[in-house]
Amino acid sequence: MTSLEYGNEPRRDSGGDARSAELADRLGLVRQRIEAALRAAGRTDPPKLIVVTKFHPAADVRRLAALGVTDVGENRDQEAASKSVELADVDVRWHFVGQLQSNKAKSVAKYAASVQSIDRPQLVDALAKAVAREKDATGRSDLDCYIQVSLDDDAGAHRGGAGPSDVEALAGRIESADGLRLSGLMAVAPLGADPEAAFEKLAGISGALRKLHPAATAISAGMSQDLEAAVKFGATHLRIGSDILGSRPAVG
Ligand SMILES: *Cc1c(COP(=O)(O)O)cnc(C)c1O
Repeated sequence: MTSLEYGNEPRRDSGGDARSAELADRLGLVRQRIEAALRAAGRTDPPKLIVVTKFHPAADVRRLAALGVTDVGENRDQEAASKSVELADVDVRWHFVGQLQSNKAKSVAKYAASVQSIDRPQLVDALAKAVAREKDATGRSDLDCYIQVSLDDDAGAHRGGAGPSDVEALAGRIESADGLRLSGLMAVAPLGADPEAAFEKLAGISGALRKLHPAATAISAGMSQDLEAAVKFGATHLRIGSDILGSRPAVG
């Protein structure tokens, strides 16, 4: 653990504070890693950085926005919904990256710019219905939809997502739903496996998807531990939590 590690100590919520300085340092280090990874991969197209703020307070999202962060990720509806209401005056896009029950679609449609964890047809239908209702009520824009793909060969180590053979049917269902826009794929590298092999496999699945849906170019891959591997294999979006915010407080 470094002295930058952010644990369970009481939070300082005032502006221009030590926490903001800490977040700025950590964000700078992650941005340097992304730039180095781009150079190593011979890429010039920077991926979009989504800072995953789950378990950290709304005040941190406000600090991050002041540091130039435009996109944040959350994995629990209740937490994301309350933060987005509290931060209605802050200009950030909210991305939902966690397992989602269909009965939460209505809530998620109120604040999310994207749902990156679509793994079954029932969820597509629930989101389509919820977005249609929200469009009528508030004129919200189309929801960016990512199919979460499982890169696990071993079902026992499953970290969520549809099987690669289910991608085509899910993509068709999303494309044919009003209000849903098929962005591309999301995946989490399997625990204990080589992330490069996993993200290479994801790039192949993305290539097959783009043959049928040329606009579905997004590849959301890469977390704190494996962003370099994700950049190497074409990630267009990175989802970074702990290397920017510190370890997550142990709260339920
Ligand atoms: C928490 C989370 C992340 C961020 O992970 P870190 O290891 O903290 O960078 C990314 N993607 C998903 C789906 C997550 O749940």
